[in-house]
Amino acid sequence: MLIVSAPDKLRNFLKQHYLKDQNVGFVPTMGALHDGHLELVKRCILENQISVVSIFVNPTQFHDAEDLANYPKDLKRDIKKLDSFNVDYVFTPSDNQLYPNKPLVSIDFGNLSKTMEGKFRKGHFKGVGMVLGKLFHIINPDRAYFGLKDLQQYLLIKRMCADLNFPVEIIGIDTVREPNGLAMSSRNRRLSKNGFETASALYNGLDLIKKGLKRGVVIEALLSEATHYYASINGLEIEYLEAINPGDLKTITSQKGLSELAVCVAGYVEGIRLIDNLYLQLK
Ligand code: AMP
Repeated sequence: MLIVSAPDKLRNFLKQHYLKDQNVGFVPTMGALHDGHLELVKRCILENQISVVSIFVNPTQFHDAEDLANYPKDLKRDIKKLDSFNVDYVFTPSDNQLYPNKPLVSIDFGNLSKTMEGKFRKGHFKGVGMVLGKLFHIINPDRAYFGLKDLQQYLLIKRMCADLNFPVEIIGIDTVREPNGLAMSSRNRRLSKNGFETASALYNGLDLIKKGLKRGVVIEALLSEATHYYASINGLEIEYLEAINPGDLKTITSQKGLSELAVCVAGYVEGIRLIDNLYLQLK
């Protein structure tokens, strides 16, 4: 496994693989790796001859300086984990290496970034689009792996690649969960034992909605039921709970006529912001 921090160096290393017609898979991460990340890494290794994992806490996608400063970092442990999976390249650029200049150009996702994560984290997707544009150009992967836990990010990046002709296949991987249902996240390690249990309510609310949908209950009623449930949990503060059509990310109040839907939730436990979602194929 090679650890590379200079973008030009990585490009040069990867050139030899393109010349040999070897396909390259890529997993972008912000480090503090957990089993959710590692699921993406496993799929990447399985489906590609060469695997690249990036570890970069991207400053431009944080609108809150405190959130950025508190983001967990554990490079030594991350590298050990990736080595045990036989990843080929770990890309660990510094802020200056990836952002030698303050970018003037930006990616605008239009209405897709005006809801949910985009609404509550101003400029977040601009930063995500910027860093992934850079990483895709440096690495030029055939496939890139994203967690469906960050559903809006997955949908936006798919759209960015289609609109801008990035020759990369975007692959979504199911959310990996803790035994109590909580979606794995690097932020979970900042939760206390109690907070960890409280946070599992996010999943329980979504599960309640899933069960209701299976019984044919209309989504609007289920959202209201879940809102009451969340309000009954001490220590959980919900930021948004929305049902959307994953095709256009528009809010829905009924599932009638839809072939798929998603319910997305964001909330705070012990001051830590957590997100989760439920994605369902209806037909
Ligand atoms: P992050 O390091 O948080 O930027 O995440 C890097 C990638 O891992 C993103 O595509 C995330 O959606 C994905 N990911 C994070 N948590 C999970 C999880 N619990 N299950 C599956 N994928 C995840």
